[in-house]
Amino acid sequence: MNTLILTEKPNVAEKIANFIGKSKKNIYEGIKYYEVDHQDTKIYVVSAVGHLYKLRQSSPIRDYPFFDVEWIETFKNSKKNKYVEPYVRLIEDLSNKVDIFINACDYDIEGSVIGHNALVYAAKTDISKSFRMKFSSLTKDEIISAYENLNPPDYPMINAGLARHVLDWYYGINTSKAMTESLKKVSGRYVTLSAGRVQTPTLKFLLEREIEINNFVSEPYWILFIEFKKNGIEVKASYQEEFFDENKALTIFNDIKNKDGIVKEIIKKEKKINPPHPFDLGTLQKEAYKNFSYLPKRTQDIAQSLYEAGLISYPRTSSQKLPKSLNFRGIIEKLMKIGEYGHYCEELLKTDLIPVEGKKDDPAHPAIHPTGELPKKLTDDQSKLYDLIVRRFFAVFAEPYVYQSISIEIDVNGHSFFASGRVGIYSGFLKYYGDYSGVEEVLLPELNEGEKIEKINPKKEEKVTKPPPRYNPASVVSEMEKLGIGTKSTRANIVDILYERNYIDGRQIIVTDLGEGIVGTLEKYCPDIVSVELTRYFEEQMEKIQDNQITKEEILSEAKEKLIDIFTKFKENEENIGKELLVYLEREERRRNYVGICPICCEGELFIRSGRFGPFIACQRYPECNATFSLPSNCIVTPTEDKCKICGFPVVIATRKRARPQTVCINQECPSKNNYSVPIEGKKCPRCGENLVIKKSFYGPFIGCSSYPKCRYTEKIQDSKEE
Ligand SMILES: [Zn+2]
Ligand SMILES: [Zn+2]
Ligand SMILES: [Zn+2]
Repeated sequence: MNTLILTEKPNVAEKIANFIGKSKKNIYEGIKYYEVDHQDTKIYVVSAVGHLYKLRQSSPIRDYPFFDVEWIETFKNSKKNKYVEPYVRLIEDLSNKVDIFINACDYDIEGSVIGHNALVYAAKTDISKSFRMKFSSLTKDEIISAYENLNPPDYPMINAGLARHVLDWYYGINTSKAMTESLKKVSGRYVTLSAGRVQTPTLKFLLEREIEINNFVSEPYWILFIEFKKNGIEVKASYQEEFFDENKALTIFNDIKNKDGIVKEIIKKEKKINPPHPFDLGTLQKEAYKNFSYLPKRTQDIAQSLYEAGLISYPRTSSQKLPKSLNFRGIIEKLMKIGEYGHYCEELLKTDLIPVEGKKDDPAHPAIHPTGELPKKLTDDQSKLYDLIVRRFFAVFAEPYVYQSISIEIDVNGHSFFASGRVGIYSGFLKYYGDYSGVEEVLLPELNEGEKIEKINPKKEEKVTKPPPRYNPASVVSEMEKLGIGTKSTRANIVDILYERNYIDGRQIIVTDLGEGIVGTLEKYCPDIVSVELTRYFEEQMEKIQDNQITKEEILSEAKEKLIDIFTKFKENEENIGKELLVYLEREERRRNYVGICPICCEGELFIRSGRFGPFIACQRYPECNATFSLPSNCIVTPTEDKCKICGFPVVIATRKRARPQTVCINQECPSKNNYSVPIEGKKCPRCGENLVIKKSFYGPFIGCSSYPKCRYTEKIQDSKEE
């Protein structure tokens, strides 16, 4: 009776193997797996590398809507995923010697799907006889206890996960196919535009904000305030209302000019701020964005790495609660060994350690918390996030922050001005979490009721009303959560995809023409595709699978019906949709490829074009102007609006994989570049007869004419090995 334990990632396999016994490392086709002797049997601990299987059409897609789909190995027809193959082969091989199969992938929907597919398609075992290991932290105690208390397979999670994958596939493949067809119909061009079940409704609410901002007409308004100084402390007291009529503001301003103020009333109140609730993933992402400007996806990845190192509990959780069953005291005692936390731990250990709770719960995992394992070597990112998580954990056991709120009313010739202050009385949880909390004190000088204030220094200031703020990557994730679309593990990824596809841009997010075109056009002709409500409806249905209220088959057939409906409408409007998409697509391509005015003919516009040897820049007045500029290979080239400070030619940004983006002047002869020129014996320029020389640029060496800039002839250096 040998056992196979499957983990989601290789480093987790090693950890689990070491926890359950004396493990031996084996190598199989270059990948590691572990073997533990257990009485007379063997336990093999192997890992997946995320998903080993993906969905693909089971027959060619000739038309849409299309629903024939199957799971295939991710490395099939994919060079990029070749590295996955040995993981599948190993499971196939070992499964012959194994009778007990345990899915120890991350305990959530994705982990259930990964494990399910590996056991069904690679191990070819009867899933109903397999087991599920449930744990939230990679610590020895928890792993051993999970191993000794195995669960049956988690069908609700498996089915919810499988349904989600298929539903996303149905939606994505059909929308994409339909848009591609519509473009082909009107332009003959083959362009893949993608849409997604959650992605497109997300883009829609981003676009709604964009439109709100564009339509916003800002109005001027005026504010009044007085400023004075006492005991070296500046006080600014504001008039209680804003004026949309400048004359009204002016009347009061004239009333108070050259007058003294009297402190009319001072109200002091003791107030408190309760400690924050424990971290769920969404709140962690928000706080990390606020404090470190980490994008949600980055936070999620760093948190995952801390989890895999055994330092924090599983991060993909919605829970804002820490169950009593966790050994808080034990964790804090362990953390005491970390120097900077020592005195915090000492203080906390004197208390009853009752954590604050948030509203949200998650049946699979508790809120994110440190495990008490001591970090060894952390990257900068990891230590920042770890510190945030540890301090938040401390804060949830702490007392409220108590402060005195002070409100001062100052009368100036019958008009009231207000100033407020905040002074800490008891630091409470701020002691642990102060730097991250954003809570600040506002000092006011000692003042007494009836006190006269001279030199009140009245000010009238013009302001303008502002449109609602743009979303940033963190607030998009929160909004998706609020709207009930996507899942905690997928939201950050979806925002990333929107960036990758050029549908959105910038940290203060703007929707690009292309993004606008897709949402706008789809909404016009088949609003259901972009509907937030429909997406939420299916999210709710999938949650019902998890609660055993509905089957996977029911929800998928309902979705099919809905999609057939949607795409029938799409097809009726295929040509119109194509025409509209084309306008936006061309506008976006222009934006993405426009380099500047041609410096050679000073008339045409330069665009990045793709040629047989990769992208290059050409003048749009070709053939009248034959200016072309080569671009470095293996680079992503982004135009800028800037010009070279030395030669005045346009500059572009070239980004090579794993390298810093570099600003490059497109002029190969620009003096800003290394002026390098080596004559070639006996080679004459075919255009003007002068000598040819080897030159060097950012792009590498090339052959040019020595009479440059009179003659602009260039040629590539032939690589003799390739001939
Ligand atoms: Zn030109
Ligand atoms: Zn230049
Ligand atoms: Zn020449």
